[in-house]
Amino acid sequence: MATADIPQPSTTPPVDTNKLWSAASLSEIADQVIAGEKISPEIAEQLLSTPDESLLDLLAAAFRIRQKHFGKSVQLYFLMNAKSGLCPEDCSYCSQSKVSDAPVEKYNILNREALLDGARVAAERKSKTYCMVISARGPNEREMRTVEEIIPEIKEKYDLKVCACLGLLDQSQADRLKKCGVDRVNHNLNTGGDFYGSICSTHTYQDRKDTLKAVRDAGMEICSGGIVGMGEKKSDIVSMAFELQELKAESIPVNFLNAIEGTPLQGINYLTPNYCLKVLCMFRFVNPTSEIRISGGREIHLKSLQPLGLYAANSMFVGDYLTTKGQPPESDYRMIEDLGFEITREEEISQ
Ligand code: SF4
Repeated sequence: MATADIPQPSTTPPVDTNKLWSAASLSEIADQVIAGEKISPEIAEQLLSTPDESLLDLLAAAFRIRQKHFGKSVQLYFLMNAKSGLCPEDCSYCSQSKVSDAPVEKYNILNREALLDGARVAAERKSKTYCMVISARGPNEREMRTVEEIIPEIKEKYDLKVCACLGLLDQSQADRLKKCGVDRVNHNLNTGGDFYGSICSTHTYQDRKDTLKAVRDAGMEICSGGIVGMGEKKSDIVSMAFELQELKAESIPVNFLNAIEGTPLQGINYLTPNYCLKVLCMFRFVNPTSEIRISGGREIHLKSLQPLGLYAANSMFVGDYLTTKGQPPESDYRMIEDLGFEITREEEISQ
């Protein structure tokens, strides 16, 4: 990838849409979304430019959509980094990439005991889903076999859904994952198609979309989202949100770039808590029935406004991320309780 060309954040001035940003107008758009209408990419981009003074109105409108489909429920996800480092790809945000100097642990795919133990912890932490992630362009045969052997055992022992994140998949690999009991595959689009070449050169946006098509054709659910704060334009984030709408992604993890020292994107840090909230709201308006998960970077970018994120999103990770620490699970449980929300393992409450 063109790692030398570190992209800069968008400086596009917001369109003058004071009317759109009024409480009444935002509420009206929420009504339309609740009634099944789709907003346009132009409106979605304007939502990202909502003035801070109107942020609470935007959150209130997004919350009405969230409440319609998910009530006050919060679904928790638990991540297991089943293979760390050693990745030949050059994704510039990733500490496990070959182009990263970040001091991450490096190990091959974990054994049966460790993967089972991860499932135990996920269940203990009230997670709905156990996410098994490997660092790789795609799974090799040994990794495929490990996953095929462990998934039935996990599902027999624990009341957990399993999401596999194994990199690029062809159709036969996707079919094998479906057959062994994987419920869902995570493969993030990461950003808009126009920006993708700025963050990775070893595979293409189309490669990622092809994997998601294979996942869908195999009959599994799609978990796909992205990373905000890599220097993309607002239109790139909107473009990704609409791609995910078209893919009918059941689950959308929204990460906020934690620019880890040693990665090509180190030093990029321009997100504000208010902007992160606007991003979550925009995803809710564009993808009303999808699980929207506040993911990596939650603690460092939303800061003390983390609870407000759950007015738009309905899901989050509990515990640590792949190579960085999260806050203690007890703090998350308390936050959810203080909001008057409740942890659930149920699907959405209505369509
Ligand atoms: S393919 Fe995955 S693990 Fe490898 S560099 Fe990209 S994001 Fe990191």
